Amino acid sequence: MGYTDDITLILPKECCYCNSALGTESYELKASWLEHGGRIRKTLIISVPICKTCLSEYKTKNKRLSLVGYLLLASVIGIPIILFTSLEGNCIWPIVAGIFIFGLYYLYDDRFIQPILPVRVIPGGTLLFRNNAYDKEYRNLNFLPPREGND
Ligand SMILES: [Zn+2]
Repeated sequence: MGYTDDITLILPKECCYCNSALGTESYELKASWLEHGGRIRKTLIISVPICKTCLSEYKTKNKRLSLVGYLLLASVIGIPIILFTSLEGNCIWPIVAGIFIFGLYYLYDDRFIQPILPVRVIPGGTLLFRNNAYDKEYRNLNFLPPREGND
């Protein structure tokens, strides 16, 4: 476990995805975020327990979504290339299209990839588990206040 300032986290032994089977496998979470107005970068690498069924289910879902994401990206990436070649000299359009693609990528990630992740880190460095019951148990074990809207 590696918070940069070495906070030890206690994790429930159950699978963090279904919270019913024992978490015999592990899912590695790597995350980093900025603190103190962007001056300090904190990194966390942690292994969370997950059961075999959930791990393979998650991997399949993730692979499928990533593939669709790449295909979408590849199809829209043609736009700035076409604009750039047809509107030669006018370099604002490729930039606009670039921003649009960037936004699209974030939207896709936020709407489709993020919700299937077993766990993620929210600003401030708190872990947020996909499974509400597991999340609640994790919060109890680490004396964290209950998550808003998760009772
Ligand atoms: Zn499971």
